[in-house]
Amino acid sequence: MKHQPLIRHTALAALALCAVTGVGAQEAHPHWGYKGQHGAAHWGELEAGFEACARGAAQSPIDIRKTVKEALPALEFQYTPGAPTLINNGHTVQVSMPAGSKLVVNGKAMELQQFHLHTPSEEAIGGKRAAMVAHFVHKGEDGGTGVVAVLIQPGKTHAAWAPIFAHLPRPGEKLTVDGLAVDASALLPASKGYYSFAGSLTTPPCSEGVQWMVLKEPVKLGAQQIKAFRQLYNANARPLQPLNGRVVKEST
Ligand SMILES: [Zn+2]
Repeated sequence: MKHQPLIRHTALAALALCAVTGVGAQEAHPHWGYKGQHGAAHWGELEAGFEACARGAAQSPIDIRKTVKEALPALEFQYTPGAPTLINNGHTVQVSMPAGSKLVVNGKAMELQQFHLHTPSEEAIGGKRAAMVAHFVHKGEDGGTGVVAVLIQPGKTHAAWAPIFAHLPRPGEKLTVDGLAVDASALLPASKGYYSFAGSLTTPPCSEGVQWMVLKEPVKLGAQQIKAFRQLYNANARPLQPLNGRVVKEST
């Protein structure tokens, strides 16, 4: 008989309030979302620290159209299996990873902190968005942020992604699954060719100085897996932002 994994749930008090009941007096941070008066068009006005959302000149996401082909440094994913914590923070499902997984680019190592999901994909290629995207967020020792975007298209059920989609937490919930180890490298496509450009966080405070690496090859996920996420969030992608003269490099 198959042993049922033990799932430990924790409610995130402040975030649950934000996600489930909207603006509450006890909230330490303003409510922001993807629709209406708290939607992306208003992020810049919601809090003093959010100005970059409205006034930044190098914002993400972008539509990747014109590129400059170059021999870019290889992305060396030195990811190791680790026990994830799945968090539904009211804006997305985030998978926080323990220390030990690194991305090395041009000799510079950045630690994988978490990855999370958007639908549809935030970044577009030639004006087209994918069904979803996963953002793998890394921090360098210098405090710099590097995000690897993995586009997701419908296809067959993806075995490595399956345990995550089987345990999606509800809004305001955080969970761990006994015995579950995730090797994030198994979540990536085979080919590591990428687009590279300077951008920002795609959520408030929209901080700039983020190094974006969008993998050219998407991964395929089953329709049921995509649907499971869309039952929680059916649209959590920021609108496309102007390029403002930025150059998009493409690996050869
Ligand atoms: Zn993201």
